[in-house]
This record gives sequence, C-alpha cells and structure tokens, in this order.
Amino acid sequence: MAEIKEVTKKIEDKVKLKGKLVWDRYDGNQVEEAFEFAEGYKQFLNKAKTEREAVAEIMQSAQKAGFGAVSRKGKDKRIYRLNKDKCIGLAAVGKRPIEEGIRIIASHVDSPRLDLKQNPLYEELDMAMLRTHYYGGIKKYQWVAQPLALHGVVIKESGEKVMVRIGEEAEDLVFTICDLLPHLSRKAQEEKKLKDAIEAEKLTILAGHLPYPDQEAKERVKLRILELLHERYGIVEEDFLSAELELVPASKARDVGFDRAFVASYGQDDRVCAYTSLRAMEEVASPSYTTLALFLDKEETGSEGNTGAKSRFLEHFVADILRAAGKEPTDILIREILLTSKALCADVMAGIDPNYKDVHEPQNNAKMGYGVCLSKFTGAGGKYSTSDANAEFVAEIRELFNRKGIVWQMGELGKVDEGGGGTVAKYLALYGMDIIDCGTPLLSMHSPFEVASKGDIYETFRAYRFFLEGE
Ligand code: MN
Ligand code: MN
Repeated sequence: MAEIKEVTKKIEDKVKLKGKLVWDRYDGNQVEEAFEFAEGYKQFLNKAKTEREAVAEIMQSAQKAGFGAVSRKGKDKRIYRLNKDKCIGLAAVGKRPIEEGIRIIASHVDSPRLDLKQNPLYEELDMAMLRTHYYGGIKKYQWVAQPLALHGVVIKESGEKVMVRIGEEAEDLVFTICDLLPHLSRKAQEEKKLKDAIEAEKLTILAGHLPYPDQEAKERVKLRILELLHERYGIVEEDFLSAELELVPASKARDVGFDRAFVASYGQDDRVCAYTSLRAMEEVASPSYTTLALFLDKEETGSEGNTGAKSRFLEHFVADILRAAGKEPTDILIREILLTSKALCADVMAGIDPNYKDVHEPQNNAKMGYGVCLSKFTGAGGKYSTSDANAEFVAEIRELFNRKGIVWQMGELGKVDEGGGGTVAKYLALYGMDIIDCGTPLLSMHSPFEVASKGDIYETFRAYRFFLEGE
C-alpha cells in the first residue's frame, strides 16, 4: 500500500497542476518583507487618491530614484514624461539595442468616484448641495452615508490653478450624501431593484447650512457658501465650469484581519499595480531590454481621451526614449519597436469571494493568496472585446515566473456568462506587441474599500521586477 501511495504522489507531483498558497511558500523573513512592502503601499494609497495625485506622487518618487524629465537633447538613461498631469510614463534605457523591443508595464491611476458636475451648487430647504456625475463603474448605494473628501483642481480664467484637498486630515471637514431612513424607504428604495434604489441625480452632496445674514437676499445659504469659497480660494461660481473636482472616500488604507494579512482601501484598482510597477521600475538598476512603465488615466471610462490608453502618448514617449538612446525617432522605427515589444497589462483581477462563490468558476478564477494573477484574456461572454495573449507569450511569462520562483496563478473574471470586464491590453495590442494581463486579485473591487492580500501584492511587485530586469 505504502509503495502505491509513493508512486501516486510521484505521478501527481509530475503531471498535476497545483496552485500554491503564497504564505506556504514564504519563510518568516518573506512574510516580514511582504508586510513591510505593504506599509509603503498604504502610504502611497493615502497620498494618491486621484489620477492627478497619483501622477504627482509617481513623478516625485521617480525623481528620487534618478529619473529626469525628458529633455529634447536626450542622452539620459532614466527619463519620465508627463501627459497633462493625469498620465505619466517612466523609461530606462537598457543594455540591449532598443530595436530588440521594449519591456512595457501599463497600469491605470484613475478609479471610480463621484465628479462634481460643472455647475454643481444649489440650495434646497436651507441647505447647500452639490450635484455629481459618477465616474466609472460604481454601485451607487455604496456611496451614501459615508464621509467623503473633495480632491481636484479649479482652473481660474487667468489660468491660475487652485489645488483642492479637503477631508483627509483628522480635523478637516468632510462631505456626505444623506441616505433615506429605513422607516420611509419601502417604496422609495427597498421594493426597487438594487441598481435603481439610488438614482444618479440623488447622489448630491451636503455642503453647507449657514445663511447669508441679509434676510432679504435670495438663496442665502448658497450665497454664503459662494462668499466663503471666494474668501478661502478666491474662486467664483463660474470657476466650477473649468474645474475637475472629485469626491472620494475620506477613509485611509488599513490593515484588515487579526493577523493584518490584508490591505483594504479605496482605489486599489488599479493603484496596487501602479505602485508595484513604480517600485519595480525604480529598483531595476540596469535592465537588459529598455523598460517602460505607463500610468494611464481614463481606463475606468473606456480609455478614451488624450490621457487614456487610446491616445498616442506612448508613441511620443518611445520617440523620447529613442532620442535618449541616441537614435533618430522615425515613425517606422517607433512602430517596429512597439511591434517587437512585450508587455504586461497591469490591472487587478476579481478574487473568489466566499460569500458569492456562485458567480465564480473556481477552477479558472483567481484565489486570494495564490499570488499574482495572469489572465490570458478578459472581455465578456464569447471572448468579445479583449486581447487574447498568444500561447507562445503565455509560455514565455510562465517560464520566467517559474524560474524566478514567483507565486502566480491563471485567472478568468467570473463564470463565462456572468458579466465581464476589460483592460487596456487590447489598445496596446493594436501596436502588435505581445501583451498579457497580470495583476493582483481583489475582493470588493470598485467599492470604496477594496481588499487585497499582502502576499499577492508582494508577488505582483516581484513579478514586475523580474519581467523588467530581463535576462
Ligand atoms: Mn482596473
Ligand atoms: Mn476598474
């Protein structure tokens, strides 16, 4: 009997696919390293709650790591380029000729949130209110009866930029959207479908209560708020028209669990991949291939616009890299390089939720704690609207991760016809580069308090670092 068992075990070890729990692969030191890594990550999350703040943080951090702003003369080995303060690229010139292609990691730094409408302020029942237009895929009920912070910029007619960040310090004021009391919710909310229970136009922000002292004046609370905004920021009502003001949860990134094994925070989709790829870019001192990290905006609304993945920013940045490598950036050379490049689309994946196992297909979905997740494709039922990584490239990444001892898994988003989602992979695939989705599994994705495993976060960082390092 014992002999048969021995043979079975040998065969199993040889031919069966086995996922590995990251914690079983770590010794005590590695657990400590992963926990230490999460400390820096939480600080980043707290500082970088919007795309503009993330880009500013990434730029500052990269500067400390020796990256310099692109210069027309070129020659620098570590460069960055801003795209309208909402998107940034970092690059490091490698040892091999750039014609052999670039190693690219593309993440996004925008997250679902509530934007103020361009004309937001009104008064109702002696309260000042602000109208919002939600950005990206939110579940509206998650945003009511919560402390919210206001971040963003107001650009005055003169071009002067007023930076806004209210609600992050302990003594700061916050904003909130009032929810209806359960006693009166039956018809207005509870008998409706969840998605209809809270209407978009009811996501209005409570923003003030004190009236302007002259009792003859109209809309006295609104007037007093405008007066106060003018005193404090020098802005007038028309300035809202040229503002980008975003409401985000006022909460901080926290450890979750008695053992502190999870990080929970707003905005981990996709700042977990942004932070890990930033750290990987900073730590790879002399890559064999030229490396490039893109931190994109507008992924959550379809990658449209001049700061999203559908813009041509990447081509311009590759031209900068060519100059830095001492080469003439012709159109055809840029295209050839992108065609030969290899990329990781650094975006999060849904981890199987113990409460909703029925929307998942456990054999092919990501498990929390089983490491960084590769996804051959994303999209929706029938593999529509997605890049599908070539098996040859999957094999190459698989070989690299196995050789470097990365804890990784292959994951698909939920059951086949359950729903779906996309990433920027398909937009970069247009250039012909090999690309595969590779990121951290999350629970509560797109909620104000997304959850990630510290082990998966650390393996994401290690995977990106080895990918960038090259041979
Ligand atoms: Mn994402
Ligand atoms: Mn998303």
